Amino acid sequence: MANAPVQRMSQLMAKTLRDDPADAEVLSHKLLVRAGYVRRTAAGIWTWLPLGKKVLANVERIVREEMDAIGAQEVLLPALLPREPYDATGRWDEYGAELFRLQDRKGGDYLLGPTHEEIFTLMVKDQASSYKDLPVILYQIQTKFRDEARPRAGILRGREFLMKDSYSFDLDDDGLAQSYALHRKAYQRIFERLGLDYRICAATAGAMGGSKSEEFLAPAEAGEDTFADCPNCDFAANTEAVSYELKPVDAAGTPAAEDIPTPDTPTIETLAAQLGVPASATLKNLLVKVDGEIVAVGVPGDREVDMGKVEAHFAPAEVEMVTEADFIARPDLVRGYVGPQGLDKVTYVADPRVAPGTAWITGANKADTHAKNVVAGRDFEVDAYVDVVVVEEGDPCPKCGTGLKLDRAIEIGHIFQLGRKYADALKLDVLGQNGKPVRVTMGSYGVGVSRAVAALAEQTADDKGLCWPQEVAPADVHVVAAGKALQTELALEVSEKLAAAGVRVLVDDRAGVSPGVKFTDSELIGVPRILVAGRRSADRVLELKDRRTGEREELTVDEAIARLTAR
Ligand code: ATP
Ligand code: MG
Repeated sequence: MANAPVQRMSQLMAKTLRDDPADAEVLSHKLLVRAGYVRRTAAGIWTWLPLGKKVLANVERIVREEMDAIGAQEVLLPALLPREPYDATGRWDEYGAELFRLQDRKGGDYLLGPTHEEIFTLMVKDQASSYKDLPVILYQIQTKFRDEARPRAGILRGREFLMKDSYSFDLDDDGLAQSYALHRKAYQRIFERLGLDYRICAATAGAMGGSKSEEFLAPAEAGEDTFADCPNCDFAANTEAVSYELKPVDAAGTPAAEDIPTPDTPTIETLAAQLGVPASATLKNLLVKVDGEIVAVGVPGDREVDMGKVEAHFAPAEVEMVTEADFIARPDLVRGYVGPQGLDKVTYVADPRVAPGTAWITGANKADTHAKNVVAGRDFEVDAYVDVVVVEEGDPCPKCGTGLKLDRAIEIGHIFQLGRKYADALKLDVLGQNGKPVRVTMGSYGVGVSRAVAALAEQTADDKGLCWPQEVAPADVHVVAAGKALQTELALEVSEKLAAAGVRVLVDDRAGVSPGVKFTDSELIGVPRILVAGRRSADRVLELKDRRTGEREELTVDEAIARLTAR
């Protein structure tokens, strides 16, 4: 590779700002704007300025190298896509409001790709005909479009953003497991090289369909995901994916269910107080409507229902809360006193904590009345067990029982075993060894390339500004000329020598900017090493500063060059 020319700040299209942008809520947003890496073009839509583009390109390069290393082949698909394949898989509708849909001049329907399963499937259908063509892993690094509801976290959640997406195509489940394992390894290498602190967490498949899936989560305050981490064993999962085994208990000793008068107890708190029992002894039944039909969701009275989990369970059906009108239309549903026993024509979904054999105090479906000793599986049936409670700190680890820790994190990557959902919808077969068609099985895998830049900023920044790991930094060294002509001359001389030796150099050669501002800017910009041509420039002595530790030392020109070019 040719050596990069010295980047001169006097010519750089990047203005640093003293103050945080008014609309910025998260650290990476504030710092990337202030340090002149990005500018907001519209809500969730960003322009990458030269320094930002360099960091983005470095992340891209690392991702590309590690994908190539597992034998994946890079391609580039269009972002502007026809509707038909997305109709075939149902995603034209199911993707909902996040999908950017548009029409061409003839009224034809198009979309801006949010992810490309359909188009990759069709590409392989077109190119591969025999088992000899598989397995294959294909990837692209490309702009994605999603009309996110809350594009508020800067680069972390764009409506237009850069993703590496790859897709594996295999003949059988073992093949898929291998392609998945290759990706898992590649992702570990990518995030290690990026210098990100991350965890691999069990995840739910969500709108993508399919079975096994894991997320790579980077712990950070600004994260929008919460993950549960076991301090004792290797269990880690997105709280969306924490799920418990159903453990039936023996109810033989539980007396028959019995109504008890409980005047004025429409809430769990009032009920528990009146009866002198803990809220956890009661069964709370939340009513929702799923595509217009009433569904009751049962959880212990001391737990909250995670609506996201309820929605995910019923997706793509629409989940709404019940209204006054629903209670009027269904006099059998007594507000505040609903119980699953004797509920007619209501689907009942319950958390695994409401396991068969467990006994509860719950509504008796009569005003001011509850029932006790109401046993799951005996007095009422559960149509489906779904993990619907909000996971709380201290909940038992599903693997070993130790109290879980909860932390905020940013999702930086996601790997899925899709299976045959897309191959079925788009009829992707190849001829097998025995001459018969074989339905292909797929995986899909994503890295948030632009999001990784922001995640790194979140994890590495300090109170002075950004603080990049070497491999992604926009330069290896930031040479600062304190201001006088002699200092600028020396700074430029050293910069040229370093660049000639293959070091990536950013030099602050701006005239008329005070040394104080230059030093502050160099810390804000966050190149790992800062080399100052200052007081002792006449003696050809410079000061080398480590951006992270703040350690400084004085070096002659030759020493500085030797130090910075050492591998
Ligand atoms: P999220 O839950 O954060 O919306 P997702 O589950 O929708 O993410 P995927 O569809 O799995 O994400 O996309 C693959 C990767 O692309 C994610 O792991 C994430 O790093 C990145 N990504 C997803 N949405 C965005 C976005 N709006 N802006 C930036 N990066 C994104
Ligand atoms: Mg999303």
